[in-house]
Amino acid sequence: MATLELNNLHAEVAEDGGETILRGVDLEVSSGEIHALMGPNGSGKSTTAKIIAGHPSYEVTDGEVLLHLDKDEFETDGVEIDDDLTWDLLDLEPNERAALGIFLAFQYPAEIEGVTMVNFLRTALNAKLEEREELFEDDEGEADAEEEDDAGYDTSPMEGDVDEGEVGVAEFQQLLQEKMELLDMDEKFAQRYLNAGFSGGEKKQNEVLQAAILEPSVAVLDEIDSGLDIDRLQDVANGINALREEVGTGVLQITHYQRILDYVEPDYVHIMLDGEIVKEGDADLAKQLEEKGYDWVREDVYETA
Ligand code: ADP
Ligand code: MG
Repeated sequence: MATLELNNLHAEVAEDGGETILRGVDLEVSSGEIHALMGPNGSGKSTTAKIIAGHPSYEVTDGEVLLHLDKDEFETDGVEIDDDLTWDLLDLEPNERAALGIFLAFQYPAEIEGVTMVNFLRTALNAKLEEREELFEDDEGEADAEEEDDAGYDTSPMEGDVDEGEVGVAEFQQLLQEKMELLDMDEKFAQRYLNAGFSGGEKKQNEVLQAAILEPSVAVLDEIDSGLDIDRLQDVANGINALREEVGTGVLQITHYQRILDYVEPDYVHIMLDGEIVKEGDADLAKQLEEKGYDWVREDVYETA
């Protein structure tokens, strides 16, 4: 099991005289749990997500971002850890955080012409596995990495060397097919260029597919519900539920609206206001919020303060 823990997190924009955005955020997300982080625009939700991922635009001025890993966490990958470990994520680069099992789906995914989904996803998976080996300095792992290369496939030079990496082309095709079935996605998807000409819904589904392949311990999904019609919302929600059930991922679902929570029932709901979590509860809290709006939270918090 893994637990992501934010402790009294304070952060400002990383420039001289940068504005303070987070004012003491406490949050714990463990494998297999679904948390909703809600709040009005500008409350600091995306900043929280970006700091977890290691975005350089923000400076942490106080507090901690920790990742606790039980020693059985990586057993299936052949990585053996002798004791439970705690990593200080703020000391690690974004790719190292990803290798430890943190996944961030961006609010605005990038479009890249010339790189197919399948190649992008395989490259991402191999980069993660390679980085993980380095982090754990696992001697056996290195030997494995050399063995697995598949015979050459012709692809465009834009797509890099397909023979490189731990998971070869054939093996990856199979993995991809399994994951696409799990998420109920159209196979043709994988041959398209990354997000190029994708609808809003397809981009978001794509983020879920990426997560399903990388099998993160904790996935932070920033407004993955924004701009989706009801059918796509359901597809994306089914994907998130599958991620929790089949992969055991802990999900931090960032959202402005209650709508997606009808399909992805959260175990915990946290409401953020002006850079702090000011209210916490279960799924009922989100329903209350839907009825009464964020002004109710604001009044409630500032009246009792
Ligand atoms: P949310 O995702 O909850 O809508 P954000 O975390 O994006 O909120 O932003 C919180 C506040 O911090 C907003 O007032 C926003 O303008 C400000 N902010 C975020 N990032 C930056 C930045 N890079 N430079 C300046 N201000 C920023
Ligand atoms: Mg945001």
